[in-house]
Amino acid sequence: MFITFEGIDGSGKSTQASRLYEHLSNLLGKGMVLLTREPGGWSHGDMLRELLLHHEWRSWSEFFLFMADRYEHVHEQIMPALSNGLTVICERYIDSTLAYQGWGRGLPVDEMKRLFSIMMLPVPDLTVWLDVPIKTAMDRIRSRKAPDRLEEEGFLCRVRHGYVKVFEEDPQRIKRVSSDRDKDVVFVEICKLVEAFMDE
Ligand code: C5P
Repeated sequence: MFITFEGIDGSGKSTQASRLYEHLSNLLGKGMVLLTREPGGWSHGDMLRELLLHHEWRSWSEFFLFMADRYEHVHEQIMPALSNGLTVICERYIDSTLAYQGWGRGLPVDEMKRLFSIMMLPVPDLTVWLDVPIKTAMDRIRSRKAPDRLEEEGFLCRVRHGYVKVFEEDPQRIKRVSSDRDKDVVFVEICKLVEAFMDE
């Protein structure tokens, strides 16, 4: 099973993905779950993550760097884990590209989707979209000790709107979870979604 977490910066992806990892590891057995993230979740990924997040890029360059990172990550980590019967939990994936580089930076969304399919990127079975108001997200980002990258508010608004669009086009796969609530309440809702999916 391939589960992805999506949402704007400050939506709580890392917290909830780690909790789900612990929960599923207890349920399915240690070593049966892979927790990973984009950008950077592969052997040389830290280098690309550093390059991506701490330099200014033109939008197409940024897009192709994210895609190179993903292609390595998919082939080195995600596909082998899925083939070995593991459950994969990944923070950010294709929907981040559509929301950030597409709706956020204005690159053409349909062409990107075509490229995903040409590259034969596996499609997640379930995507948890943690939706949070921009103000809450900005407050959370500002309170971090060392944010990776401080996105400006207007950009984050476009990205959040992008997630709304992406969700509307695939409500079967993508489930919206409001994360402007107590972390435990959010986690219970995520567990219900995952368990419902596992029972199907
Ligand atoms: O989720 P995480 O904090 O690890 O993401 C790191 C940064 O990468 C975020 O600040 C986000 O703005 C940026 N990002 C992006 N385009 C993507 C994925 C992430 O600009 N496709």
